[in-house]
Amino acid sequence: MEYTVDDLVDGLSYSHLLRMQFDLNHGALHLKKLVDARIRMLEAANRKVCAACGNDIDSENASAYTVVFGPSDFRKKATCCGMDCFEEFIVKLKQYEGIKTTLAKQDVIATNIGTK
Ligand SMILES: [Zn+2]
Repeated sequence: MEYTVDDLVDGLSYSHLLRMQFDLNHGALHLKKLVDARIRMLEAANRKVCAACGNDIDSENASAYTVVFGPSDFRKKATCCGMDCFEEFIVKLKQYEGIKTTLAKQDVIATNIGTK
């Protein structure tokens, strides 16, 4: 649900309105601090970074690729800024999956020979 400034003011108690009036009459530093912090939080939540090169990805970037992978109860999402980075990400993902498989096999072998 989206709120307007009118909704915000209508929802404030008399004592909070008096505090806000005091803040507004003295440069609105507290309100500015609250608004700045909220904007930073929203921008950080919407920020996308390329999974391969680490560059920021503009939400309007038409050449960006997003892949969703992993088991249904633990989905992971990766976005890459272009085809080259997407290919690099897939190569790294294959290497990572290969390492995981190798470690799992070593764990089974170690368990079977009683070293674990
Ligand atoms: Zn990239």
